[in-house]
Amino acid sequence: MRTAILYSQKMREYDLGHVLTGERYERFMRLFREKLGDNPVFEIVEPGYATEADLKLVHTEEYIRRAERCESRDPYDTPLSPGVVRAAKLLAGAGKLAGELVQSGAFSKAIVIGGGVQHAGRDYEKGFGIFSDVGICAESLMQNYGLQRILILDTDAHAGDGIYTIFARDPRVLFISIHQDPRTLYPGPSYRNPVGEGEGWGYSVNVPILPGTGDLAYEHVLDTIFVPLAEEFQPQVIIMVDGSDTHFMDRITRMGLTLKGIYRIADKVRETADKACQGKVIAFAGSGYDPEGLLFPRGWLASICGLTGLEVDLDEPYPFPPGYRSDYGALEVRTIVEVLKANFAPYWRCFSSS
Ligand SMILES: [Zn+2]
Repeated sequence: MRTAILYSQKMREYDLGHVLTGERYERFMRLFREKLGDNPVFEIVEPGYATEADLKLVHTEEYIRRAERCESRDPYDTPLSPGVVRAAKLLAGAGKLAGELVQSGAFSKAIVIGGGVQHAGRDYEKGFGIFSDVGICAESLMQNYGLQRILILDTDAHAGDGIYTIFARDPRVLFISIHQDPRTLYPGPSYRNPVGEGEGWGYSVNVPILPGTGDLAYEHVLDTIFVPLAEEFQPQVIIMVDGSDTHFMDRITRMGLTLKGIYRIADKVRETADKACQGKVIAFAGSGYDPEGLLFPRGWLASICGLTGLEVDLDEPYPFPPGYRSDYGALEVRTIVEVLKANFAPYWRCFSSS
């Protein structure tokens, strides 16, 4: 089955004037064309801008108007300008289109380059994100196509607090977020591993792990949390939010993964989707901040190759830090997983010991 790569040169307008630069997307595409451009599995699809109705799948009218007036809550973190807001609508449109391409059966996978808004909520921008491409994708699949079970796996190093607030009360969406403990990283300690609200109790599974945790610990969480939950929930599609800010060279986070580790996450999602939902995955690859911009294109490529089962040259662009171990934090993460399984045992059969 084929994979759509959703990309437009117009995404370059998503330039926040700090670590999130507009040239990131074309920089990735150059590497993609060099390594995978001839592969017939892929088709580059140009998305259009989200319409007012698309945005309203998630966002309030009042907030959409405020964003269009470029009245930013936090101009240092998420500055709003006409170009940035336009590009945010393009990412939102890409999120919706990605869902449609997979749902129609034309593609088994669709990957939004530069997407993966995690922190924006229904009525606010936050943490580099303006309109929730992930939220609009999932809401469109539920409201326009009647899907009843969507699994969102967020493996970005930051906790997806915005995605959480959008779906906290919705048991049709199982949200699993594996991230660096928010007591040590944005969005900060106010995000206390919530488990959902109302009918959505038990449908948000947050896995906070320690800074410096390596590949093996991450793999353990996927094997013991994500895979059994996917088997029990039986999603009709998996939405994946990844990127490469989990890598050991990321300058904002401290998760300690290698490119191979990033590949393995996506590889596991592919295997799980093959069993659960005919291989249907919509992925958003947008994060990763390294000093020379060498890492994130490779990280996104590693993830795309894992998702599609392709081999890729995974040479690390930076040397390993002194004393680096891929099993760092493995023991601690086992304890975190056992506590979490006990907490969620009332909600999920796969976690009950009987
Ligand atoms: Zn992140």
